[in-house]
Amino acid sequence: MVRISIPTLPKAPLLPPSGLSILPLPQAASYLAQFLENGKGNTVMLTGAGVSVDSGIRAYRGEKGTYSNPNYKPILYHELVEDSDRGDMFSKADVVHSDWARSFLGYPPVRDAQPNPTHIYIAALQHLGLAPKLITQNVDNLHRKASSLLSPTYDKSSILELHGTLAKVHCLKHRHEQTRDVYQDEISRMNPIWDQEAKEAERTGRRPRTNPDGDVELHGVDYRSFSVPPCRVCEREKVKSSMVKPNVVFFGETITPAVRDESLHLISSSSSLLILGTSLATYSAFRLVKLAVEHKKPVLMITTGPTRADPFMGKRLDKMDRVAGDVLGKYLDEAVKTSTGKEVEDVKRYLHTGVVKRPPEVEGPRAEG
Ligand SMILES: [Zn+2]
Repeated sequence: MVRISIPTLPKAPLLPPSGLSILPLPQAASYLAQFLENGKGNTVMLTGAGVSVDSGIRAYRGEKGTYSNPNYKPILYHELVEDSDRGDMFSKADVVHSDWARSFLGYPPVRDAQPNPTHIYIAALQHLGLAPKLITQNVDNLHRKASSLLSPTYDKSSILELHGTLAKVHCLKHRHEQTRDVYQDEISRMNPIWDQEAKEAERTGRRPRTNPDGDVELHGVDYRSFSVPPCRVCEREKVKSSMVKPNVVFFGETITPAVRDESLHLISSSSSLLILGTSLATYSAFRLVKLAVEHKKPVLMITTGPTRADPFMGKRLDKMDRVAGDVLGKYLDEAVKTSTGKEVEDVKRYLHTGVVKRPPEVEGPRAEG
């Protein structure tokens, strides 16, 4: 009789560690300096959930692209639009009302979130012209808040929100846009009881757990009591009113062709790509990295943990397994010391501002209706 024994193998890492990841911080910052210098002011940045964690915005996807909160039921696009073209837009009333009710209660923490130091550093790279263009997967509006700090008149077109923004809503049929704050106020007026709930949650700090698309979990609530305001632009223009949704790409929805084309154009017209704080779990972001690699553009990724683009390592793509903000902060500290000019002064003024407010480790008490 033959006995087969299987030796216990040491767990091998998926990929050999990149030499870049173990560089001491000053050398990592110098490496970034060289990368940006080679980019000659035409480096495009790509960011994700990792840069917003310090602002209390919870990443909704784990390393493998799965939801980090298994109880979280995302808003599904098809649930909203399935019947809208047949003019039967409220046939999914319960779904719509519950989604909007949750979104109504979940929005204030996102609305009030402040840019953290990493957002400031990224805005600084843009402001200094080192990497003027930014593509983000985040919908939390924090890159724009950071840019407006450095310059209220910053170039609005310098930030492309791949998955939309929570700061706006639009109607499904005509894409009439309005600001989320205005729409949120209208919801408050139409739903005084829910408004009270939201204010109470704010007053006591007992905010319901919020996901990054501005959505909360609520249980045992009768959503049918929740009124969803129609699109007022449709009303004004006397066309058949259409449902309003947050200006974000929902799960199951694809990004608009215009945004997709602009993102691809930004990559193909750039000299290099700097990826910060993202595992590239979404295809719309991964596709951009793939394009950059195919076009033989240098790519530097500064983020922690595995990413979907790791197989490209060595093929024009380098990775530093580090917290992006640490390297950016160190680099900028040095950069502003040796530079002059108005932009440098703007950056110096705000460089070490930014608010760190991490999401609570444990789930707080749930809001009750
Ligand atoms: Zn409309």
